[in-house]
Amino acid sequence: MNNINNSGNNPCSNCGLCAVSCPHKAIDFGIDGEGFYRPLVSANCTDCGSCVKVCYKYFEGKSPFENAFREKDVYAAWSKNRDVVLASSSGGVGYELTKFYSNEGYKICGVAFDAPNNICKHIIAETESDLKTIRTSKYLQSYTVEAFSEFKKDKKYLVAGTPCQIYGLRKYIQLKKWDDNFILVDFFCHGTPSFNLWKKYKEYIVENKQLDVNFKNVNFREKNPESKWHKNAMLVEDFLGRKFVKNHGFSEDLFFKFFLNNSCLNDACYQCKLRLDYCAADIRIADFWGKKYENNDDGVSLVITNTDKGKTVWTEIKHLLVVEDCNFEDLQQSQGTRYISLNSKRNKILAELKECAPLDKLWTKYFKQSVVKRGFSYFKRILSYIKRTIKK
Ligand SMILES: Cc1cc2nc3c(=O)[nH]c(=O)nc-3n(C[C@H](O)[C@H](O)[C@H](O)COP(=O)(O)OP(=O)(O)OC[C@H]3O[C@@H](n4cnc5c(N)ncnc54)[C@H](O)[C@@H]3O)c2cc1C
Repeated sequence: MNNINNSGNNPCSNCGLCAVSCPHKAIDFGIDGEGFYRPLVSANCTDCGSCVKVCYKYFEGKSPFENAFREKDVYAAWSKNRDVVLASSSGGVGYELTKFYSNEGYKICGVAFDAPNNICKHIIAETESDLKTIRTSKYLQSYTVEAFSEFKKDKKYLVAGTPCQIYGLRKYIQLKKWDDNFILVDFFCHGTPSFNLWKKYKEYIVENKQLDVNFKNVNFREKNPESKWHKNAMLVEDFLGRKFVKNHGFSEDLFFKFFLNNSCLNDACYQCKLRLDYCAADIRIADFWGKKYENNDDGVSLVITNTDKGKTVWTEIKHLLVVEDCNFEDLQQSQGTRYISLNSKRNKILAELKECAPLDKLWTKYFKQSVVKRGFSYFKRILSYIKRTIKK
């Protein structure tokens, strides 16, 4: 058997490149019961092995693993146009990249919220308005198969995606010998959660916040006067123009609470070797979290030039940005976590997300501490503070 049903070294990253690369269209790519995209190999499979060649499951990486970014150039940057910064997730480097290369004749491929199907998917931007649509991070798995299957030999593309999508794509274009025509951009990735979380979140908003069941637009990274870059707001808008805004979204919004406590991410996200050990992109971008820019309210992007092409790209676009040179220690401060830690309640949460319990009840059941427990942990904190003070 020479197809992705063979077991590999890693779990499926659900990047979709197996389906894109299959010359016989023998791989369906759909969402499974737990809410993750998974490939399904059909009877048309000829065992040609094309899918195996691009698949993250068989990625071995270096051994012992090295940090991919130790020797790389690291920058802090934000757009010179403040409107761009405020409309972007962090400092707007993503948008400036896409705008610049769109003007240079590149086709731009990034992620849009597909309202009719309530999913996120990669699209190839055709207009300036498409570039605005693909701007900002959508914290859901995106469907790549349709857009990535449209890539043509003689065209130039800039593609942004998760590190695993970009890894699969790099393998694919290397095999096709299309490398020269592509600029690949990824980001430091926290992982992508189960679609069942998104479904439950939608039900919760419709039920409790009186929004219509059809969402027109979602902005996971809204910046407003109350919730600026660090605090972040979640914004959902329906087709009737009604809006739901949750200020202090990272800490207060139910979707983010489940996403950021790692209780329902794809299993490949937890030991992802593409987070710090290996990177297949030309440029990596991220939020410049950490001490260095803690007082900046607008947003700062972290940028790493990972290849020679990445360095050229950087030389071409940096006149559009305010740039500050940084180093590996700054990067570690900002993105130190090597692996995203597994929440011990993950299996239970994934099972419950399939059922009909409302999301707020699920949160209370699994994560809200009782008054007694809260009191106890407060007491423990005080005790350890006293001990530390006595030692000094
Ligand atoms: C799922 C996910 C997890 C992330 N985790 C982290 C993290 O742990 N730490 C961190 O510092 N930054 C993380 N980021 C990156 C961060 O949110 C910003 O994208 C980054 O700071 C760049 O900001 P920007 O304003 O320059 O670009 P943005 O406007 O945010 O653009 C980034 C590019 O990513 C594409 N994109 C958006 N959503 C998706 C998606 N679901 N899948 C694939 N591509 C997508 C967009 O089309 C765009 O081209 C994550 C992003 C995503 C989508």
